Amino acid sequence: MRDFTYARAASVEDARRLAQQSGAMLLAGGTTLLDLAKCGVARPDHVVDITHLKGLDAIEVTREGAHLGALAKMSHVADDKAIRAEFPAVSEALWQAASAQLRNMATIGGNLMQRTRCAYFRDPNSFAACNKRQPGSGCAARGGITRNHAVLGTSSSCIATNPGDLAVALVAFDAIVHLGDRKVPVDDFFLLPGATPDREQAIEPGEVITAVSIPASAAARRSTYLKVRDRQSYEFAAASAAVGLDLEADGRTIRDIRVALGGVATKPWRAHAVEKALKGKTLEPETVMRASLLAMEGAIAQGDNHYKIDLAPRVIARAILKVGGLA
Ligand SMILES: Cc1cc2nc3c(=O)[nH]c(=O)nc-3n(C[C@H](O)[C@H](O)[C@H](O)COP(=O)(O)OP(=O)(O)OC[C@H]3O[C@@H](n4cnc5c(N)ncnc54)[C@H](O)[C@@H]3O)c2cc1C
Ligand code: SF4
Repeated sequence: MRDFTYARAASVEDARRLAQQSGAMLLAGGTTLLDLAKCGVARPDHVVDITHLKGLDAIEVTREGAHLGALAKMSHVADDKAIRAEFPAVSEALWQAASAQLRNMATIGGNLMQRTRCAYFRDPNSFAACNKRQPGSGCAARGGITRNHAVLGTSSSCIATNPGDLAVALVAFDAIVHLGDRKVPVDDFFLLPGATPDREQAIEPGEVITAVSIPASAAARRSTYLKVRDRQSYEFAAASAAVGLDLEADGRTIRDIRVALGGVATKPWRAHAVEKALKGKTLEPETVMRASLLAMEGAIAQGDNHYKIDLAPRVIARAILKVGGLA
């Protein structure tokens, strides 16, 4: 048992003040915090409860886009009629994440802050070496079981995947993370491990995610999220793709396309090369499959995870063909 203080923040300003204490952690739905505390990875000295802050659970969709309050529950956003109509990939990504019980508790802000599922990271009693948990200690995954580890964005310090589903859809549609007045494009919010894998998100001590906004677009309106995993529910992605498509009036020429990948990289991964190869092209299976292979440029297999290099382009292609009405 470790002692910690508990304080219920009265306002966002109060939460920021309390979160600046050394060893402070925010408590939203608690589904990640409790999980990590139980396995000995999270060791907060101060828990700052933000669950009752007013106005942070809003879900609004206008002509400009969506505004998701940081305390909006995953299940509420997934089920929101306007989100389902304007951002189907966002709704589908949330529906396919975790379990119904977790989605009813977990929040949008907490979801973006979840940590990797690397088994070595989550077992400090058995594995001392983990640069993400203890900078400079090494990486137990290298030479270990790497079936779920990343093939893109890795560094010599860390090869762990980012496990989130929602974040993949947000990266595809250029969402913005609101940290009060400071706004960060979601692609910049998630950091590559480099030499500092302990830092996963571009958030400073004392900052609080207040909302996420997603600009409206034709591609977001015609979108999907495809998640391939070892079992059909309650499982993280082996590979996933968020795809959005906008076609010219002929119904075949690609005007705009968005592609982002999950389960294969150290951060939610925008596949710009695939998008570039397909813009202006005719939507047909062979072209789509050939372009999808470009997502794996620079991929490096790490022991047991070579299958991801084969799987991910197929997931992308299937998602594009599905949203294009060809699968
Ligand atoms: C068994 C299991 C299976 C899961 N499967 C999936 C899955 O398939 N896909 C998926 O995407 N996720 C999955 N998850 C992760 C789940 O979605 C997250 O646990 C959840 O979204 C976290 O939200 P929360 O509100 O409970 O966060 P909390 O546990 O309250 O907080 C998580 C972290 O975020 C910080 N935080 C919370 N809110 C804020 C804020 N507003 N600003 C700044 N920091 C904040 C906290 O300090 C803490 O560090 C799974 C989790 C479990 C336990
Ligand atoms: S892959 Fe990253 S999270 Fe996993 S043990 Fe290595 S350093 Fe730690």
